[in-house]
Amino acid sequence: MITSQILHKTLKDNFGFEKFRVNQEQVINAILSGQDALAIMPTGGGKSICFQLPALLLSGITIVISPLIALMKDQVDSLKANGIAACFINSTQTEIERQSHFDSLRDNKVKLVYVAPESLSYLENLFSQISISLIAIDEAHCISSWGHDFRPAYTNLGYLKKRFPSTPVLALTATADKATRKDISKQLSLKKPMSFISSFDRKNLSLEVRPALDRVKQIIDFISNKPSESGIIYCLSRKTTEELAEKLQKAGIKAKAYHAGFDNSIRSRTQDDFINDDCQVVCATIAFGMGIDKSNVRWVIHYNLPKNIEGYYQEIGRAGRDGLPSETILFESYGDVIQLQKFASQGLNAEVQLAKLERMKQYADALSCRRKILLSYFGELVTENCGNCDICKSPPDFFDGTIIAQKVLSAIIRLKESEPLPVIVDFLRGSKNSYIFEKEYQNLKTYGAAADISWYDCNQYIIQLINQGYCEIAFHQQNNIRLTSLAREVLFEGEKVQLTTVQKNILEKTGSKDLKTKPAANSLFEKLRKLRYEISKEENVPAYVIFSDAALRQMENKRPMSDAEMIAIDGVGKAKLEKYGDAFINIIIEFQKNKTVKPKKEAGTYKETLLLFQSGLTVDKIALKRKLGLGTIISHLAKLYLDGETLDLHQFVSKQEVKLIYDAHLILEKTTALKPYFDYLEEKLGYDKIRLALAIIEKENRPT
Ligand code: ADP
Ligand code: ZN
Repeated sequence: MITSQILHKTLKDNFGFEKFRVNQEQVINAILSGQDALAIMPTGGGKSICFQLPALLLSGITIVISPLIALMKDQVDSLKANGIAACFINSTQTEIERQSHFDSLRDNKVKLVYVAPESLSYLENLFSQISISLIAIDEAHCISSWGHDFRPAYTNLGYLKKRFPSTPVLALTATADKATRKDISKQLSLKKPMSFISSFDRKNLSLEVRPALDRVKQIIDFISNKPSESGIIYCLSRKTTEELAEKLQKAGIKAKAYHAGFDNSIRSRTQDDFINDDCQVVCATIAFGMGIDKSNVRWVIHYNLPKNIEGYYQEIGRAGRDGLPSETILFESYGDVIQLQKFASQGLNAEVQLAKLERMKQYADALSCRRKILLSYFGELVTENCGNCDICKSPPDFFDGTIIAQKVLSAIIRLKESEPLPVIVDFLRGSKNSYIFEKEYQNLKTYGAAADISWYDCNQYIIQLINQGYCEIAFHQQNNIRLTSLAREVLFEGEKVQLTTVQKNILEKTGSKDLKTKPAANSLFEKLRKLRYEISKEENVPAYVIFSDAALRQMENKRPMSDAEMIAIDGVGKAKLEKYGDAFINIIIEFQKNKTVKPKKEAGTYKETLLLFQSGLTVDKIALKRKLGLGTIISHLAKLYLDGETLDLHQFVSKQEVKLIYDAHLILEKTTALKPYFDYLEEKLGYDKIRLALAIIEKENRPT
């Protein structure tokens, strides 16, 4: 009888994890009791453990069917790093290599063998000589022509159940839709499979949509804040991937382009570089990602609007498989919508494609929690707002936009419903450009009626009116804007229109985000990362195979300095402790030592900051000049202030903001850690402001 205690011990000893994720233990129990099972978990949900762990407890061999050769290698590398004997069989190997794997299988020396469905025939002769305890079919949706990744070779897998009727079969996939699910069980001839369906919610992914205004600059600013974090930027066209990669390279970012037009060798090189942390950013078409198991993709950006929600969710799903917070940003542009609409209407199945695009657009234009919209699309009903999307973090402000709406709608009438959006904006704002004069639009009524609204805002308001159905884009007629029947009610029947304030100065907004402290190159995390990178090069495996980002973060926070402390870290099992424990512990001890001798040295460094500040230099300039992070300079100022220097900190943090932080200070029981404030204030105030405000509060509260 295998108890939960044994399962947990196996999990910790071999994989280093303390707890099971949702449904893992249940799936494992089903298999161990000899049943077939179907496990549906989102990407990053932890499907692999569901068959890797039972493989260790069962006496025979576990066969894992997996569609991609690159993935097999990474999975086998990960198992080996955990001290688990595994191998893979595929057509790229030499006959000699394969024979040696066959020998190990015959001698029962490996617990798991990975094989592509196309290569199953290699194992055929072995089947009578080895004992097979479990058959796991990864990416099982590939069996279904309903799905989006149909692989013909998968359709032959049904014979496995017939050949091994009493061996449990576990099918795994991240594809939710019901038709595919049914098809999987049927085609694999599963016997009364137990289904385990996890929620598709990926709470660790933040969701954000931004207007595409100046998106290259926005992207460069964003990446500059995370100089060592891997990310993917999805673009609509091959050309854009190349152009964008070039712009990023010019800004000093290690970026590469990837699309199906490149040679195979170039593509796999780019993919390897990304997986191995040698290339930070990949600008790619949707061709990129399927073969990537990299757990530390920290962010995903959509440079263009995706065609549908399925694709979008799959693509953002590539971020944060290790469960750490990860960011996703979608840039929405009116131009993209028009282009996609054109593609969709010309392609196969136009009606369905257009409807899917419409849902995508509604998501991007949403004024309520985005995660709710996503999950409801996949048939999951949630009642709570998520708190981790841009709408939840800063809900839109509504105002009475009736007058603006009336102006816009009458302008459209004056222009005879025969002009596209940009011309309407120019017209409303009283632009004096040649087109307007050529058409003599300056003589029409409502010309210049919205001269007091900025071009950008005016444009956004009209888009909102389109989204609310008062007017529409005539895609087949040069994208001219036309009225709908709803417009009448606004113009003649006194219907009120609600608009939302346009997110003010998105660039300013992202600019202020830049105030966030950059990760310091000499932080413990970076040192651990560097060691991990070096080991990964020596062992020729991806860095995340050595330790996940999540494990390194825990080491940074808990600072384990003995074997016993190290094995308590999630992700450190016995094998990894043995192999890597000392090296990582040494880095931590070294770091602690340096930290404790530092203060003496630092007196001078504060002084230097003080002198530069008193000479009138801005904080940015001081940071540049001293080659220190902005955050470091800010912390110097806070310290100097507390030490009694007279500095005007209110130029960085207003009295009102200090008040907010003061209130939080009381509620948070006067903690001195910064993150609780950041979270409590819903990320509205950056760490620098919090740090300075706390200094002000502390000084005011000191007994004099
Ligand atoms: P999937 O195949 O479902 O996308 P993986 O099996 O690759 O997911 O697991 C994703 C990540 O989560 C991996 O880094 C894995 O090591 C980690 N993981 C899996 N199970 C656990 C667990 N019980 N506790 C902590 N981390 C886990
Ligand atoms: Zn939300």
